[in-house]
Amino acid sequence: MPINKASLLVLESFVRQREGKGGRKLRLIFLGPPGSGKGTQASRLSQRFGIPQISTGDILREAVANKTEMGIKAKESMDNGELVSDDVIIGIICDRIVQTDCENGFILDGFPRTIVQAESFDKMIGEKNIPIDIVLSLDVSEEMVVRRLCGRTVCKECKTNYHLEFNPPKKKGVCSNCGGKLYHRPDDEEDVVRRRLKIYKETTEPLIGYYQQKGLLSVIDGTNEIENIFKQLVGVLEGI
Ligand SMILES: [Zn+2]
Repeated sequence: MPINKASLLVLESFVRQREGKGGRKLRLIFLGPPGSGKGTQASRLSQRFGIPQISTGDILREAVANKTEMGIKAKESMDNGELVSDDVIIGIICDRIVQTDCENGFILDGFPRTIVQAESFDKMIGEKNIPIDIVLSLDVSEEMVVRRLCGRTVCKECKTNYHLEFNPPKKKGVCSNCGGKLYHRPDDEEDVVRRRLKIYKETTEPLIGYYQQKGLLSVIDGTNEIENIFKQLVGVLEGI
């Protein structure tokens, strides 16, 4: 019998399952304050485990560009200068996590953001029978976040990033790469950073308790070196 496309697909999925720890799924939610390094770690875990990293901002833009039902609703709100409603955001996430590349799992990076979102999301995934396996929380102190974010500068010309403390340019205020002028993003000013952290504490941090009660939470110390944090995360995920 000649190998047709369907049997090739079956074979591919069989190989994938064998490679992916006996087809075990890894659906995870990643929590952490701005500046915790969550995005970087999520992207590395995504490569390591071959599951997509799903960030709300990205898939919102995607849904709008693809003019999906939820994307059209989201665009209406944005055009009116309103926040995209929870229903629409959850709808977009739910559309995304049933796609074929999420078969072996996914990493939610930056969602849910509030208890209300988490509760509606739980209801939706309960109906679809897509349980979350683990919730990772990167733990970093406020002072550490302020130190990390407020020390960042970026080149006006070539956009190279520097950090006054951890990765300084050879000459103060000048890009080592192209000689361009370095500037501080308005987002990284201390009062802006502290305001963002305050919002995170009030709205998103309660999720830590929420998922702890469900027995899903695993807390990782986010003050370590990037490489060490990654090893710890991999260890936790391989252990579940
Ligand atoms: Zn430059």
